[in-house]
Amino acid sequence: MPPILHRLTENITTIDLQFQGRTEVIASYLFYDGNEAALIETGPAVTVDNLLEGAQAAGVPLEALRHLIVTHIHLDHSGAAGILVRQLPWARVYVHPNGAPHLADPAKLLASATRLYGDKLEWLWGIPLPVPAGNLVVVNDQEELRVAGTTLRAFDTPGHAKHHHAYLDTRSDLLFTGDVGGVRMPSVRYVRPPTPPPELDIEAWVASIAKLRAVKATGLCPTHFGLFRGNLDWHWNDLEHRLVAWGEIVRAEIARGANDDAVLEQMKTHIATEMQAQNVDATAYDVAVSYESIVAGYIRYWKKKTETA
Ligand SMILES: [Zn+2]
Repeated sequence: MPPILHRLTENITTIDLQFQGRTEVIASYLFYDGNEAALIETGPAVTVDNLLEGAQAAGVPLEALRHLIVTHIHLDHSGAAGILVRQLPWARVYVHPNGAPHLADPAKLLASATRLYGDKLEWLWGIPLPVPAGNLVVVNDQEELRVAGTTLRAFDTPGHAKHHHAYLDTRSDLLFTGDVGGVRMPSVRYVRPPTPPPELDIEAWVASIAKLRAVKATGLCPTHFGLFRGNLDWHWNDLEHRLVAWGEIVRAEIARGANDDAVLEQMKTHIATEMQAQNVDATAYDVAVSYESIVAGYIRYWKKKTETA
């Protein structure tokens, strides 16, 4: 497949990783100043060739690719990091403090993903390789990375995961939201909360949304997928409303004694009906985050809450 690139600004290009041969599911954002390049998101292991071909098609020689920044360590965002470091041993991988141990040793991450995806895991995402300690850079909240001719500021943004950063590009004021900004397909007015287990935390997520609203960005770039300008408050409102509303449905279903399969069926119907009513094509949303993982995340969240109450 020939690379698909979208030029966002003079120095930022979206590489469409063409996950499963589909466009507009997983993005990697490439920054290049003619001297060195940085990526926000490596994407999963399975699309590493598409990533490198995309970077080269954007005019970046591989030896310029020095900074690999991941918003969080889920396999669709960071799965290629260790493989890339084998090919680009000079590259550094920038990660949240809670994510660093799992990039160094992906065993637990793989075990957790296997619970979710079973024997489809390797086919879906590929198998990540460990990132050598010498290539890992731990990034803290509010820390600034001076890379590829710009400065990226990290925002610790838990809720989707405890190892999540959003990054503001201080040159363009574009905000790279990973998964904490939700899943939204280009030119669609519908934001889906990706709520996989095991770390979903609705209150923390709502607080992270407030934190990112206060950033006053000029545009949002979720990894799934692309750049949104215009009414960013509308985007945040839509995400926050749905994140909480779906949580309430799952909570009510559990409270009335529904088992996990019944909750899944109920939510599948609810989400499909809601999207149909708004004339939204669900396919790309479903590839980016499945019903199963959305519902499993909410169920686990509420069960944990009742256990600790
Ligand atoms: Zn994620």
